[in-house]
Amino acid sequence: MATNSNRQNGWRVGFDLDGVVYDFRRAISDYLVNAGRTECSLDRAHPHWDFFKGWGLTLEEYLDLYKAGVDAGQVLRHGDPLPGSVEATETLARAGHSIHIVTDRSVGSQPGISSRHTAAWLADHNFVFHSLTFSSDKTAVDTDFFIDDRFENYVARVAKGLNCHLLTRPWNQDLGDKDTQRVDSVEEFVDIVLRGSTASTRSLAMTHSR
Ligand SMILES: [Mg+2]
Repeated sequence: MATNSNRQNGWRVGFDLDGVVYDFRRAISDYLVNAGRTECSLDRAHPHWDFFKGWGLTLEEYLDLYKAGVDAGQVLRHGDPLPGSVEATETLARAGHSIHIVTDRSVGSQPGISSRHTAAWLADHNFVFHSLTFSSDKTAVDTDFFIDDRFENYVARVAKGLNCHLLTRPWNQDLGDKDTQRVDSVEEFVDIVLRGSTASTRSLAMTHSR
């Protein structure tokens, strides 16, 4: 749990990586196209979660290629940050808030390879962060705010009374309802954090838990 002193000194702000600050689809597409799989271009990816189906891949084939891309030092290690994401962490840190990254990344043949790629990529791009946690459970880290693009993660946090904003992406835009707390950009999320408006989220959590 965060201590009172954390909150007196600023909000604890959580960030998911893939689909929020890291363009995962572009990274794996670039790796596959460069490896000769020209059918795996970004424009052919399916817009929903099973984007690899647009490349004619089964889930098993996709997971094998993802692992190969990580082992090759490409996927999770290379690729530009999504626009505005580095600036978002800088802005929040400058305003006195702390940044907590929680990412579900455990892939690769060598133990810890995805963690090492992640830390190196964050350093390469000068992301400001105060903790880095590898977990599929996005409720594992206590934060006052959190941004994620996976609807299931949003639902899990709200169900536990934890703040979350769902970053609207093509793969989640049809999910949820009018009460789903969405942002259309990382910049919009930063503005909300800077205003410190958690009250609406707490009432939303109560609505969902009924
Ligand atoms: Mg994500």
